[in-house]
Amino acid sequence: MKGNLLLLIGLQECDSQLVMLLSRKKNLPEQMDRLNQDFLAFKNGIEQNKIKYDEIKSRHNAKEKEIKKINESMAKAKERLLEVKNNKEYQAILKEIEVAESSCGDIETEIISLLEELDKLSVLVKKDEDTLNQQNKEHEEEKKKIETDINAIDSDFVNWEKQRDELRKKVPGDILAKYEKIKNRNNGIGVISVWKAVCNGCHMNIPPQLYNELQRSAELFSCPNCNRIIYFENREKSA
Ligand SMILES: [Zn+2]
Repeated sequence: MKGNLLLLIGLQECDSQLVMLLSRKKNLPEQMDRLNQDFLAFKNGIEQNKIKYDEIKSRHNAKEKEIKKINESMAKAKERLLEVKNNKEYQAILKEIEVAESSCGDIETEIISLLEELDKLSVLVKKDEDTLNQQNKEHEEEKKKIETDINAIDSDFVNWEKQRDELRKKVPGDILAKYEKIKNRNNGIGVISVWKAVCNGCHMNIPPQLYNELQRSAELFSCPNCNRIIYFENREKSA
């Protein structure tokens, strides 16, 4: 292939890489933010069972305290039974004890159902913890990958820039100016390949005569449609 064209193709590669790196530099931190937000939302969602478990646990504790209090007052009532003076008072205390025993029974039934709920929830909470640990591990790995990519961008950028500047020195001034002008007008692409008579920049057909010349001649040709500098690329050979 023609020397200047090879230089331009190399230059295009550098320019495209630099544009890509700039957009990655902008996109990767945004990607990181999204990743963190998603993980936080997942974490909040998965903690619902734990929140419910803690809630029921504290209800259970409160009920246990209630029972303890009732038992204490029952014990006192039984002591008082020994000191009563008349039957009416005796009957009243017996009634008091009866009520206390019945409410103890109710609370115990409640406690049993709370304990059953706690059993079921603790299985779910354990499962959630395992899932969260796994997700956390994956989240950390993804974060690390993005961090590594972010850290590599600056040094990659410097390398491509250096390569670009060296190529620019080798390309004759008028050709370089033409390339820059076309590139700036065409979304950063000034040089593009043609295969099977189609321009890969604008995807329009190249006239047969031009397509023939493109494969044979040493001149620089432009796409009649998008004006980009074109070169013939045999994709069957390179594939
Ligand atoms: Zn074109």
